[in-house]
Amino acid sequence: MKNDSEVRVCKNKKCKKILPVSYNHKYCEACRNQHAQTVKKGIKIIGLFAAVVLSSEKINHKK
Ligand SMILES: [Zn+2]
Repeated sequence: MKNDSEVRVCKNKKCKKILPVSYNHKYCEACRNQHAQTVKKGIKIIGLFAAVVLSSEKINHKK
């Protein structure tokens, strides 16, 4: 007997895409990709900031 009432949907309230039973994530693939993109962007910004700090330090140390 299949319990059809246990349909899992994406936790993203704007998405709520129905997830397959075998799917082990709380968010659908699209939302997970989007989240990964956001994380990547954040890392990029931090990296950029670090690069700016490093280059400005280099300039300060110039004689
Ligand atoms: Zn989703």
